[in-house]
Amino acid sequence: SLSDRLSGVFDRLRGRGALTEDDVRAAMREVRIALLEADVALPVVRRFIDAVTEQAIGQQVLRSVTPGQQVVKIVHDALVEMLGGGTSDLDLAATPPVVIMMVGLQGSGKTTSTAKIGKLLKEKQGKKVLMASLDVNRPAAQEQLAVLGGQVGVATLPIVPGQQPVEIANRAIQAAKLQAIDVLLLDTAGRLHVDQALMDEMKAVAAVSSPRETLLVVDSLTGQDAVNVAQSFAGEVPLTGVVLTRMDGDARGGAALSMRAVTGKPIKFAATGEKLDAIEAFHPERVASRILGMGDIVSMVEKAAAAVEVEEAEKLAQRMAKGEFDMNDLRTQLRQMQRMGGLGALAGMMPGMKKAKQAMAASGMDDRVLLHMDAIIGSMTPKERAKPELLNAKRKIRVAKGAGMQVQDVNKLIKMHQEMARAMKQIRKMGGLKGLAAMFG
Ligand code: GDP
Ligand code: MG
Repeated sequence: SLSDRLSGVFDRLRGRGALTEDDVRAAMREVRIALLEADVALPVVRRFIDAVTEQAIGQQVLRSVTPGQQVVKIVHDALVEMLGGGTSDLDLAATPPVVIMMVGLQGSGKTTSTAKIGKLLKEKQGKKVLMASLDVNRPAAQEQLAVLGGQVGVATLPIVPGQQPVEIANRAIQAAKLQAIDVLLLDTAGRLHVDQALMDEMKAVAAVSSPRETLLVVDSLTGQDAVNVAQSFAGEVPLTGVVLTRMDGDARGGAALSMRAVTGKPIKFAATGEKLDAIEAFHPERVASRILGMGDIVSMVEKAAAAVEVEEAEKLAQRMAKGEFDMNDLRTQLRQMQRMGGLGALAGMMPGMKKAKQAMAASGMDDRVLLHMDAIIGSMTPKERAKPELLNAKRKIRVAKGAGMQVQDVNKLIKMHQEMARAMKQIRKMGGLKGLAAMFG
């Protein structure tokens, strides 16, 4: 598996302090091959490799984990991020009947997924659901949905022969209003290939039904084709999410990875079989693990990282007790703030932080600022971090450029650091951290 291969590349390098650029590039060659084998689109692979390379170079190698495993973790986390981070729920926040329009090619699994989602909404969320098939191209397509509706106990719109999709959509909306339906699922027709007639029909249906969700249904087994299909659809209708079907097959997850990158929309569901309960919320973690083919490496690395964090925090406390506080210390603090859930979470946790939070909000400071400040410190040389007073005008310009920020942002950070360093000295005068704790206690 990819995870084995990466470990192979890196475990030779055990005992190094930090990952070098060459180490990382060697590993990324393996990642590249693995992603292409998993059917991920080439431009997506390129973008991914660039991002991960940048992130991995210079990372400290954590104690008790081999470098290979650590890179696997970095790659894993980047995959999860690329797949959308977490699960993404249906958005039903609109005046009922909330319309969900299902689009996609013929055979992708639209009708089956419609029935599956109808069942989920009814059983898990207690919604009153109506389903309507607008597929007038395929004989018996409307009957198919009616049969599935019967099986899952969800109502379907009665069939009126000879009606066109837009007429059926209008009739479905009327019926849904009359019956106080919460969610109306519109199962549209598909074609074997993307064509203009299909797109026009879809747009016409969207125009009369104002769907809150437009879900593109794609067959994960079709790999590259799925990517092309997604691109075509995304260019024609405003998609809100993707349903990936046939995730029970041996697709290696490449379609999932490309889909998110190509449509910019979250994958909301993964369908995993023909049975009508074979659907689940899409879990980026699972697909990332599948692409990497790895076991419990992630949790192992997380444990090691937690240990290092404790160490870091202790070191910082000691330095603070001595009144020392350089840019490295500031960065450690910024990262801890991020890990603890950002400024908002932090302010909620600490008494007396409410005022600070209000002040931060007033000055337009949000969690992005933490990342920006981190980037600015990252663009300083080790010497500058240890001795911020080295930062003259010329150096500030270089640092700002490196972080993609303005010189005034660098100045703000330096000012903040000075204030914090001064506060550290104050704390020391008042009897160190213990004195401080007594004050708050
Ligand atoms: P549509 O043309 O897009 O409406 O596709 P259908 O919903 O009619 O599905 C086509 C075929 O794929 C049917 O035989 C379904 O049972 C099957 N199918 C749909 N979703 C899945 C899935 O997630 N896994 C598997 N194995 N088969 C599926
Ligand atoms: Mg169908």
